[in-house]
Amino acid sequence: MNRRAALAAGTAVVGTALGGIVVGEYEGDTSPAVPPLSATGTLLEDTDRETTYYELGGGDDGPTGVIIGGVHGDEVNGYRAAEAILDWTLAKGSLIVVPWADVAAIRANSREGPDGDLNRKFPAGEEPKTELARALWNLIVDTQPEIVVDLHRSRGIFETHDRWVGQAIFPTATGDALEHAETLVQDLNDEIVPRTLRFHRFTVGNELGGNRPMIIHKVGADLGTAGYIVELTEFLLDLETQVDWTTLIAARLLGAHGIERVAADR
Ligand SMILES: [Zn+2]
Repeated sequence: MNRRAALAAGTAVVGTALGGIVVGEYEGDTSPAVPPLSATGTLLEDTDRETTYYELGGGDDGPTGVIIGGVHGDEVNGYRAAEAILDWTLAKGSLIVVPWADVAAIRANSREGPDGDLNRKFPAGEEPKTELARALWNLIVDTQPEIVVDLHRSRGIFETHDRWVGQAIFPTATGDALEHAETLVQDLNDEIVPRTLRFHRFTVGNELGGNRPMIIHKVGADLGTAGYIVELTEFLLDLETQVDWTTLIAARLLGAHGIERVAADR
């Protein structure tokens, strides 16, 4: 969404010379986009939690990744980035994309769906706690992924706003996940975070090992698979930039695990 569209949609935009600066709640369009390809499958078909997923690539023996957006329904960057990934052509490997994990929460533009916070339903070593969580988990397990990436949004700035993690990448305590997160964070801070936004520098979050009932914790603990929680802040960062950075981070993480897209043609 460009600046004028953001204004038209009612998003509060601060008049400033710096591009990409927005404060306030997102009030634009929050409905799932019409995807550019047909669905590979559906979770919880014929229920109000019904949500589709998509497979990209799959023509070779390369690794498979899973991308999840919309676990929290008000984290627009996550599902918009997952939608952007549906446009990719893969050069190597394949991908399962679940753009709208908690579609009821997305429709309500709220963090939680009718069963509460979806990302608190995945205890390590146990059955996931809801039907939706079980369906999502079964899809992940059936995919036998090399990597799982869960796309989220934070609000404040790391170490400035106590409650928020800022811009961070949380790796599982498996394999090379920590090293990949460290390399990526360094690259992001060198390449894309403007010098004027030094508080927006990315950090590496703690390693996720199963002590909290979250999807990526469970991916690491139960499957021994590399996983990452990606957190972009909405603090002084407009949605378009959040989506671009979230998509870039997903591409880099997938690339580190051998899943590569054909270079973007834009
Ligand atoms: Zn979240």
